[in-house]
Amino acid sequence: MTGTAATRVLVIGGGIAGSAAALGLRRAGLDVRVYEAHSGADQDIGAFLTLASTGMRALAQLDATRAVTAIGFPLTSLRLLDAEGAELAHVPLGEVAEPDLRYRCLRRGELNSALQQEVSARGIRLTHGARLTSVTDGPYGVTARFADGTTATGDLLIGADGLNSAVRRALSPGVRPGYAGQRVFYGRTPGAPGTGGSGVITMVRGSQSAFGYAEAPTGETYWFARVGGDPLPERGPGARSAVPREELLPLLRADPTPAAALVAGCPGPVMVTNATEMPLGARWHTGRVLLIGDAAHAASPATGQGASTALEDAVVLAKALRDLPDAARAFGAYERHRRPRVEHNITVSGGMSRGTHAPARPAEPNHRPDHRDEGLIRQLAWDTPLSEEG
Ligand SMILES: Cc1cc2nc3c(=O)[nH]c(=O)nc-3n(C[C@H](O)[C@H](O)[C@H](O)COP(=O)(O)OP(=O)(O)OC[C@H]3O[C@@H](n4cnc5c(N)ncnc54)[C@H](O)[C@@H]3O)c2cc1C
Repeated sequence: MTGTAATRVLVIGGGIAGSAAALGLRRAGLDVRVYEAHSGADQDIGAFLTLASTGMRALAQLDATRAVTAIGFPLTSLRLLDAEGAELAHVPLGEVAEPDLRYRCLRRGELNSALQQEVSARGIRLTHGARLTSVTDGPYGVTARFADGTTATGDLLIGADGLNSAVRRALSPGVRPGYAGQRVFYGRTPGAPGTGGSGVITMVRGSQSAFGYAEAPTGETYWFARVGGDPLPERGPGARSAVPREELLPLLRADPTPAAALVAGCPGPVMVTNATEMPLGARWHTGRVLLIGDAAHAASPATGQGASTALEDAVVLAKALRDLPDAARAFGAYERHRRPRVEHNITVSGGMSRGTHAPARPAEPNHRPDHRDEGLIRQLAWDTPLSEEG
């Protein structure tokens, strides 16, 4: 087995994928260290995300449910409105009957902090302010070099350093995410009651945007708007800007839905970023180095699966290194298990962003948001060995 305490794993990036991978690798018995570029917790003002039931299931395999259910709030149903504000559907969301597996809406910075605290609580060393600049893979180990001149050497290196991954640049120079056809605005509006009720996420098929919102128990409403058109001026994929609300409001005002009032009530500027996605078929591993999370398979945010798939990656990687005899076979099995699912998500999500793929219709059995994927459930189950075939 690869997963012995003598196997030293360097995880680059202490975000969602990296922190979760550290928890999984430790649980699998490996010696793991995390290197995070930011010097403190990520304070991404306004940014939030939803974790799907599959992501919550992955967290449960890592014994990290409590760390995450202590923050954010659960979502139990999905409401769909048309551009006139008429309700098209209202269906249960995910595994509603299992409180620990319910969809969850969280601020991104809070989720990162909670996972990083869990990493530290388990005695895993997490170094902040360590920005990887290069990777040297050799016959006896892999060495990471950081911007401050320090180095670290391990048996394996996991690139969990997100959309603009430095590890990916070392592995596949020239492979980078591209624009997925939409800009994404997001924000939080205080005191906006009557926007759908707690536990409900509402999606609005607006005439000029795809708008979504959910009311937190605090009374704040979290919202996003995806809008087609040219990308924001290039400052690197994933770059965010604060812009005046007036950039978004004219696209919402034509529709008699709650969207315009929510954005108008948002204090201060709103945030905007380009939706980006990785090309299909990009290389994920070579030698002692493997990419996970957005570094490997960033998708446009339309399906809202990026964080959940990052958590799933962490569990499957830990199981692969626990169950297969060497890293090459473990990385191969990992890829066979993960690539079909995450590339399907890139395709569907990108299609929704570009308007070439209709959003899932909640009434179709295989597209229901409460659909259980039994294959994925087996893949994630900690006590079920990971097959090599995928
Ligand atoms: C607007 C928007 C909305 C979204 N909404 C959702 C949603 O509702 N649901 C959902 O599931 N997903 C959503 N996503 C996607 C989700 O945020 C990502 O898929 C997820 O954050 C990926 O996690 P990650 O750990 O791979 O990358 P990240 O979260 O980006 O973490 C990467 C980490 O690596 C660190 N790092 C970067 N470079 C280096 C380096 N050189 N050296 C060391 N460390 C480094 C970073 O500081 C960071 O901490 C959304 C994305 C966007 C843009």
